[in-house]
Amino acid sequence: MSFTNQIQAVAYCRTPYKQKFGIPRQPGLVSAARGFVELAPPFNQIDTVRGLEQYSHLWLLFCFHENLAQGWKTTVRPPRLGGNEKLGVFATRSTFRPNGIGQSVVKLHGVHSDNGKVRLEISGMDLLDGTPIVDIKPYIPFSDSIEEAAGGIAQEAPVLARVTFCQAAQQQLELYQKSDNYPRLAELIIGVLAQDPRPAYKKAKADPKLYQVALYDLDILWKMLADGIEVLELRPSQ
Ligand code: SAM
Repeated sequence: MSFTNQIQAVAYCRTPYKQKFGIPRQPGLVSAARGFVELAPPFNQIDTVRGLEQYSHLWLLFCFHENLAQGWKTTVRPPRLGGNEKLGVFATRSTFRPNGIGQSVVKLHGVHSDNGKVRLEISGMDLLDGTPIVDIKPYIPFSDSIEEAAGGIAQEAPVLARVTFCQAAQQQLELYQKSDNYPRLAELIIGVLAQDPRPAYKKAKADPKLYQVALYDLDILWKMLADGIEVLELRPSQ
């Protein structure tokens, strides 16, 4: 038996995450990440989302579009296991999957419609800016949240690293925070870096390397010191 189905993007996600490095591994880990789901023609009619505002959260089904070209493998090495152990691709949330489909639950802050644009204001996403959305569904607590469910290798959220700003970075932060273009910027930087985006085998170890994450149109430069992460500079993306 074989089945194929042509699917198309019903929307695109606009998020602060301009590169994959630094995006949280799952939704809800960085609630300060604010963005939008912009419906694409012909779905961008307000009737398609009529009543959606009654829900506080949404499921977004999307495509890991930046990874599709690399295809998929039967087994993957989940970062959570330090990259040493192999599990079946369907036993993980790997981004390299047979149909490249991801699913994330996000908080819905509002439904906006003006001159042909229909946008859902969301937060807490784990999606790259521009990610194609293939379906949007309301989150239904009585059936979607299962208290007694077993979490396998993903028992709890990652341990958070301490994040500080050197004096120069603190001054740059205060400047950028004056602009409306960077909502909740300090919380976003701290939330993202506290996840320690480096590969699992480096977790919690001091590291002389200078790292950079891209948030909005800014590059955030940082180092992992013995007692946590220090932000060294915020600058316009190169
Ligand atoms: N919550 C989703 C799921 O379980 O299907 C995604 C989990 S996956 C581990 C989250 C990671 O996907 C992010 O940290 C980011 O590196 C990657 N990612 C997000 N958007 C992507 C995109 N459009 N293309 C490729 N990778 C993406």
